[in-house]
Amino acid sequence: METYSRKRTPEMALALVDYIPVANLRGEIRQELREHPNFVLIGETGSGKTTCLGPLLIELRDELKLKGKVGITQPRRIATTSVSDRVSDMMDSDVGGRIGYHVRYDDNTSSETDLTFMTDGILLKKIQYDPLLEEFAIIMIDEAHERSLNIDLCLGLLKLVNESRARLGINPIRIIVSSATIDRNLFADYIGYGDKTNSVEIQGQMFPVKVFYEKEELQISDYPMAAAKKIEQILNSGSQGDILIFMPGKKEIDQTTESILNEVDCSDIEILQLHSELSPEEQNKIFLPSQKRKIIVSTNIAETSVTIDGIIHVIDSGLVKQIQFDPRTGIDQLVLVEHAISGISQRMGRAGRTAPGFCHRLFTEKSLSRRQEFQTPEIQRSNLSQVILAMKKVGIEDIESFDFIQQPDRESIDHAIDLLTKLGALDEHGDITEIGEFMVELSIEPKLARMIIEASDPSSNCLNEICILASFLDGKNVFVRPSDPFLANIVDNIHARFKTNKESDFLTYLNVWQGYVQSGYSESWAQANYLNEKVLEEAVRVREELLNVLSLKGISIDSRARPKMNVDAIGRVLAVGMIDSILRNTKSGFKKIDNTKSEIFIHPSSVLGRVNFREGDYILSADIFMDAYGKTHASSCMYLKQEWIRDLIPQSNRYSEKSHKHAHKKSRNIYRNSRKRR
Ligand code: ADP
Ligand code: MG
Repeated sequence: METYSRKRTPEMALALVDYIPVANLRGEIRQELREHPNFVLIGETGSGKTTCLGPLLIELRDELKLKGKVGITQPRRIATTSVSDRVSDMMDSDVGGRIGYHVRYDDNTSSETDLTFMTDGILLKKIQYDPLLEEFAIIMIDEAHERSLNIDLCLGLLKLVNESRARLGINPIRIIVSSATIDRNLFADYIGYGDKTNSVEIQGQMFPVKVFYEKEELQISDYPMAAAKKIEQILNSGSQGDILIFMPGKKEIDQTTESILNEVDCSDIEILQLHSELSPEEQNKIFLPSQKRKIIVSTNIAETSVTIDGIIHVIDSGLVKQIQFDPRTGIDQLVLVEHAISGISQRMGRAGRTAPGFCHRLFTEKSLSRRQEFQTPEIQRSNLSQVILAMKKVGIEDIESFDFIQQPDRESIDHAIDLLTKLGALDEHGDITEIGEFMVELSIEPKLARMIIEASDPSSNCLNEICILASFLDGKNVFVRPSDPFLANIVDNIHARFKTNKESDFLTYLNVWQGYVQSGYSESWAQANYLNEKVLEEAVRVREELLNVLSLKGISIDSRARPKMNVDAIGRVLAVGMIDSILRNTKSGFKKIDNTKSEIFIHPSSVLGRVNFREGDYILSADIFMDAYGKTHASSCMYLKQEWIRDLIPQSNRYSEKSHKHAHKKSRNIYRNSRKRR
């Protein structure tokens, strides 16, 4: 009794914060929730969707006597854990008590938990193992505008869950979709089963932002200089406040920084960069107070994930880089596109948080008419192998008639099925195999899971190393490289110490791992060696969890004696997982063996970057991508010995690309026929 009195009811928690719009409007929202089983909640950033809806939904569940928890998804791990801290505070309860979180490899919920914050990946996993999702009564998909593969897939699967529940006479799960910028009709129609009316919109507290446009369109090369000129204008106008500039990528950020240094009197300003290649400390610099006026040159990171105080001016290139997967080549391309209207509005909103603001758009007002309202969702521009495997796991046979909010391309589906078949995850009928089931359990990208499964055979002799490599390849780039050319050169020499093997970048990763372990997982060691310690910490976590999954299956790494690193064994196993990323050196450079369209250049960061290859040599790469300028790079590479190739690639495909294409077609036809026959 005494412990209970310490805890706040949802009503008490919301009363404490009722200066926040959602908390203020709780009466109206409660009414909407009662009337509509599913609905869309739109409210500006900071209006309280993420932190205030949870308590409201607990109340609603109790009032309607629904059975199960409330679940709220977040797109990222960090958001999930920090939001659960905040709501636990509001409810005066411990994390893991009434309020809990569940992220990959870290479940902090208990039987007491009423509200679980989880990543959308975890929700997907839960549906895979419980098709009725009986644990939950209400699910809110938050930040739905991100339209990640997981978000789209979860929404589709939740509809299936509800159909199954209906058949068994169980109450349906109530689905709430929330976001600041979202296609309201599309979502309301989709989760409302054809009814567009069920959505609520909440006005936030924003100061006005005045928008300026260019009179003429700029060339791509003109943006850095145009931004610098704009800064000069702002400084000369006497207008106060920090300035945030949106550029599409690191290259343009560097160019803009240089233009500012050349064009603007920099004595009273501090220029800061923000992009994903920087280390966490470097990224954090943008939040630190400064004596000088801050000018932050950023990629899209600043658009959604972070809020920076003190920004009065936004300068927006209106451009964004996004990943576009080409199912014909099996290669990801980073494309430069005009950003969608919802995105540029979001950018504009970074000014006007704390005072009236200004948004200087480096594009014409006319260009608005040709821009998309919303960005193309990931499902229509990604490699779908993980999505299709997840769908097969829950027994969806006919991928193409699945009710996605927006349908993926047929070619991408075919590519994914092909790849999964090559990896042994699907059989010739397109059904999931034992290998496929094992892959799902490992919760890691199919090609990495395939490597681990291959290495888990006792004869492989390299399971430990492969688990380490999988955990590195699962994460972001561990090497931090400063943008300053002089410093970059010094850092390259520091990194060179890890590059002891000249035929494989994977052995470089193993050296990094060994150094990190020997340092006692030291943060300062990581920093001194220009390695991203967050990436290293995550690799430790992923590796541990992989070992856990393996040990549940009775496979352990400690029992195997490994006198020394077995380089050949590692190479063979890597090639099995990366069967789709094998490159052959032809007269006109490296090409993928199953697609000879574009030449692929070994990235200078690879140890293979300076090797002279002979024609007919093979390499593999864990990371092939085409840059925004149309050049295809391969990084994380290794040299492949001819004898490994013999086992991997069928004889007929090896020497002539023509015959390989033929074989490829044939096997696809066999697959199609077998599907028809069923
Ligand atoms: P939304 O999801 O609509 O963007 P949130 O629910 O995340 O909004 O936040 C609503 C408001 O709650 C914020 O504007 C801020 O004032 C407050 N808030 C959220 N998290 C915290 C926190 N960890 N500490 C202090 N205030 C917070
Ligand atoms: Mg939010």
